[in-house]
Amino acid sequence: MSCYPRLPLLIGYLLLLVCGAPCYARPAKALSTVDSNETQNRAVDFESAISNGSLLSDGEVREAVAYLQKFGYLNSLEPSAQIHALLNSSNSTDEIDSGSDIDNSTALDSIDLAEAVSKFQAVYQLPMTGLLDLATLAAMREGRCGVADAQFDSSSSRAARRPKRSTPIRVEMDAEPRRFDTRNLSWRLARMSERLNRNQVTKLIRRAFSLWASVAPLRFSQVFNEQEGTADIEIGFYRGSHNCQRRFDGPGGDAAHTQAASAIHIDIEEELQLSDNRPVRQRGAVHLLRLLVHEIGHLLGLGHSSHLSSIMHPSSVNARPALLRRPTSRVPAALIGRDEIRLVRERYGPCSPRIDAIIDWRYELGRGFESYTRVVSRGSVWTQGRGGYPDSLGCAWPGLDGRLDRVDAVLQAESPDGRALISLAFSGAEYFVMNSSTGALLSSAARISADFGRRTGEQYGIPESIDAAYYDYAKRTAVFIKGDWAFEYDLLQHNGSLRKNNCCVRHVKLNRMFPKAPNNLKPLVTPLDAAYYRRSDSTVFLISGQDFWYYASNIGAVNRTSDADEARLPAQPKLLHYGGKVHQQWRNLCSMADARCSLHSG
Ligand SMILES: [Zn+2]
Ligand SMILES: [Zn+2]
Repeated sequence: MSCYPRLPLLIGYLLLLVCGAPCYARPAKALSTVDSNETQNRAVDFESAISNGSLLSDGEVREAVAYLQKFGYLNSLEPSAQIHALLNSSNSTDEIDSGSDIDNSTALDSIDLAEAVSKFQAVYQLPMTGLLDLATLAAMREGRCGVADAQFDSSSSRAARRPKRSTPIRVEMDAEPRRFDTRNLSWRLARMSERLNRNQVTKLIRRAFSLWASVAPLRFSQVFNEQEGTADIEIGFYRGSHNCQRRFDGPGGDAAHTQAASAIHIDIEEELQLSDNRPVRQRGAVHLLRLLVHEIGHLLGLGHSSHLSSIMHPSSVNARPALLRRPTSRVPAALIGRDEIRLVRERYGPCSPRIDAIIDWRYELGRGFESYTRVVSRGSVWTQGRGGYPDSLGCAWPGLDGRLDRVDAVLQAESPDGRALISLAFSGAEYFVMNSSTGALLSSAARISADFGRRTGEQYGIPESIDAAYYDYAKRTAVFIKGDWAFEYDLLQHNGSLRKNNCCVRHVKLNRMFPKAPNNLKPLVTPLDAAYYRRSDSTVFLISGQDFWYYASNIGAVNRTSDADEARLPAQPKLLHYGGKVHQQWRNLCSMADARCSLHSG
């Protein structure tokens, strides 16, 4: 039996027929010969593939063909006696490896070889010449994931199968059905490498899982049971043959692969780089964190991508990935891209955390203000437009660090001249005043009842433990919501300082403040979890559980959001509409398992 399976269990599905930049024209010669069916021309073409291909030696051609077979580019076709004859008649002094994986028994189809080379070149963003040259061989020699890149449908026509352009192939979901029908998955470090530190490796594995948990509704937990097969995912370090359909090939080449959709095998003989940070540009080393993120991607159902910067590119496991051939490229972090996130969510569902607050957070920048939308759920804060990675509450607002594990509302009030901002966070009976630029506290926690509560002779005060709050920039009033009631409050004095004990401009039922549209699909549910005033079009969003409603304050207001993270909504002013599910409007809110500090740690 061959060392390599003809049809590996996990095969990346690649779409090869899409056109886009960058495009490389195929050489005229290759086109004319490839289209011919005459045996003689095929032989000439194959000969030219060798002789024009920048002087590859016999051994190098064998190596390349073995690579193409191993990684799914030449699945059903074998080199023929022709290659033997060509190799034997050449002047190369390379020793022919009698133990080569090339099976010489059946006919080589030179057209398929050229196609296979072209496809490989497409995946590695090389000019698609279809010729075996030194650049192509060099790319084949880079370390990589051992899962095959492509499976080609032999029933389709040649013309349809032949790639025309070197187009980045987007990552696709593997057609292989996964056995994970749960969102809670366990993992086990089944076999350690004696060359590595177990704690360090465990930390990296946890980090890799938490990166996926940050972008998809998945939870991963470690199990320590010694018994094999006790975890959904088993991770182990192996060398050579290792009770698996594949065998490892020592340093370089196949660095890791998945097995039976439940195991990650890592080649113990690789030089593994454990640094969690930007990797060293070291040739031959394998970046363990990226390797783990990549292989977990396979287990979740992803195939390979031909985007060099994708974590699912076969070379992404390298400390020095193929991307670095581009002079301007930087080493990618182990971040999961939009395509991968979209595909994984299509399979495992959307992310639907319970939202505590949403705010267009403004901060001073130079002489003006900038703003971004922040969504808060328990200890996590997502900045919209920055992917699915949340910051911790204490990272987004350092003044709250260690003081709160959740907020009821965050709001900013603007002075009448627009020059001063006051930033407040509310939690239970307390509120906090923060610096708008740094998020640091300007004073210690104060009681809501003391400063905004009902005073003798007054009918109302701002209650404690509010459900939601927002600042209406058109009216310049703050709106606090608890139960079915809204408390409208003029928060700022003319000098820009906080106005206290002056409740309220208005105390009104929510259904009077937000009259529902006649065609409203779902009545508002209280208590609310959050309220959000979108400053770009003065739309108020009311959020309860997994549902949201919206109310356009301005007549003629339209959705002017340009944020790709938010959906567009039909706007009808002064009426409350049911908007749909929270995850349809705020799309990048996943697990809070690994809130980190991207804003301040860079
Ligand atoms: Zn892979
Ligand atoms: Zn294996």
